[in-house]
Amino acid sequence: MSDIVGGCLCGNIRYRCDEEPMMVGVCHCKNCQKQTSTSFSVLVAVPKGSLKIEGALSTYNDQGSSGQAVMRKFCGQCGSPIMSDVEAIPNMDFLKAGTLDDTSWLKPEVQFWCDSAQSWLKLDDAIAQIAQNPPME
Ligand SMILES: [Zn+2]
Ligand SMILES: [Zn+2]
Repeated sequence: MSDIVGGCLCGNIRYRCDEEPMMVGVCHCKNCQKQTSTSFSVLVAVPKGSLKIEGALSTYNDQGSSGQAVMRKFCGQCGSPIMSDVEAIPNMDFLKAGTLDDTSWLKPEVQFWCDSAQSWLKLDDAIAQIAQNPPME
């Protein structure tokens, strides 16, 4: 059982999820680089609505490449990105895995937006690489 428990840097936001993750992935898109101010997001996809969140999240209404909404939710006090609600993928919420209390179980299975990965980064060939977004059904 994966331990999906975590929170922001200042402790204002705490969350837990009792469901198993649907996917663990890495996103190299430019917007994730900007929002996290680092090289990529590590994302744990959980069933929509399964996150139990304490504390009030702030939201930045971003847009995906499709033009659909990406609601990036973060702690308004310390700025930690917590999760994204992606209109194009209505059955999942995407947790920013850097905020997990225990990250030891994380094993990303896929990387998105490898086209915009930072040039110094050596992408792990053992993890599937997708140039841009995953194809959506
Ligand atoms: Zn905070
Ligand atoms: Zn991204």
